[in-house]
Amino acid sequence: MATNPLRNIPSVNELLESPTLKGLVDRISHSTVAHSVRTVLDEVRHEFQTATSERSLPSVSELADRIARRVLEGEPSALRGVINATGVLLPGNLGRAPLAEEAVAAMASVAGDYANVELDLATGKHHRRMHALEESLRYLTGAEAALVVNNTAGAVMATLAALAAGREVVVARGQMAEIGCSYRLPEVIAAAGAIAREVGTANKTYVADYAAATDAGTAAILLVRPTNYQVTGAAADVSTQDVIELGRRHKVPVIHCLGYGSLVDLEPLGLPHEPVVPKCIAAGTDLVLFSGDKLVGGPQCGILVGRHQLIDKIQKHPLARATRVSSPTLAALAATLDLYHDPEQVRQRIPLLQLLATSVDNLRNRAQRLAPQIQATRSVRSAEVVESTTSLAGNALPEQVIPTCTIVAEPQEISADRLAGLLRQSSPPIIARVENDRLVLDLRSVFPRQDIRLVEAIEAIAPQPAEEPAEQSNSDHA
Ligand SMILES: *Cc1c(COP(=O)(O)O)cnc(C)c1O
Repeated sequence: MATNPLRNIPSVNELLESPTLKGLVDRISHSTVAHSVRTVLDEVRHEFQTATSERSLPSVSELADRIARRVLEGEPSALRGVINATGVLLPGNLGRAPLAEEAVAAMASVAGDYANVELDLATGKHHRRMHALEESLRYLTGAEAALVVNNTAGAVMATLAALAAGREVVVARGQMAEIGCSYRLPEVIAAAGAIAREVGTANKTYVADYAAATDAGTAAILLVRPTNYQVTGAAADVSTQDVIELGRRHKVPVIHCLGYGSLVDLEPLGLPHEPVVPKCIAAGTDLVLFSGDKLVGGPQCGILVGRHQLIDKIQKHPLARATRVSSPTLAALAATLDLYHDPEQVRQRIPLLQLLATSVDNLRNRAQRLAPQIQATRSVRSAEVVESTTSLAGNALPEQVIPTCTIVAEPQEISADRLAGLLRQSSPPIIARVENDRLVLDLRSVFPRQDIRLVEAIEAIAPQPAEEPAEQSNSDHA
């Protein structure tokens, strides 16, 4: 049996003692250099274990050079921009929607400098962090007051903790759902210290159910939009208007958590059922909670709009402080909201709305141009244009069906999974779908400027050795 060359791999200490790395330890730090030593040694071991041909172990000085480069250049960044060819417009695993250029610029300008987050430049006095945003949100929604926190989950927690700790919150049993990972409404309500008073049944709830549970001691009525499931068949839901009137009769605030809430009517863009926040406020909802990074197309945050007295109370709660947003987020949201002041430019400037507004004709033309180029590459046997449907957010909003156009490619010599894996390794990474051992590139979520990258990335794929182990593993260290 041949001796395993890895037995002779140098130890961490031996490498740290090498002249190249010794200098770095003195200049930078022992722990930083030692970390890179371990990472590179792991990589070398992995390279040897997966190598198909004989190779010799690098010398100590070769290894030290590689480690030194790693220390000086930094580890490859874990987070990268990708091309989203899944067709899903708000994919949770790809960070939901990209920001408008104006928002990115605003974010960068405050991130690289000090910023007047809590300083009024005119008077030199302190002003509230939310100052500029609040004006904008009041104007756009018609609400008396507004607050922005880190995300919608934070908005719900801060709201319930501030308004309902130790008291009852009336909520429909049919709305006590799990919405995305570790967001389960019964647990959220309990964690905020409120007591859920469930009304109705899993499939049917009437306003009488709410009425029977609501009295002067009730802290709030909570309506939660079912955004990732549907009750079909024998189902009955109450009208929001009836609940608002009930709340008003008992002087109990009605809180509506929309999750997906829009500042403008999205019906012209093919989304007829999306709640429009200004309409909810006009209808008399006391507090509306929605995400800044879903239909608004802004940075990750949770937006609260509604009655002054309620917002004021929430704002003073420690959870609002614990979930407050950074100045780059404030700047990005303010810049995004500015775009909404001009209804004409919203559709052109907010990337999410731009993607949503693209006609199927446009997508088809682009797909017809790209398919032959993709078919001409070595890794693809055939590529055809297929009209299909996609969704806003994978499992979420199942009732919203968005028409789209895809390129369906049959790979040559490798599996579609392998092809999708290689595209994820390209630069920038391309994220595609695999269906029936075909690669599916959905143009609904691809910007036209990215089209050519789809072709180039597939062209750049080198011939694949037939018997390589399926996926290049990223050797994850537990
Ligand atoms: C998306 C969503 C949430 C969670 O929003 P985050 O901003 O991710 O915290 C909560 N409730 C509803 C109804 C949602 O749609």
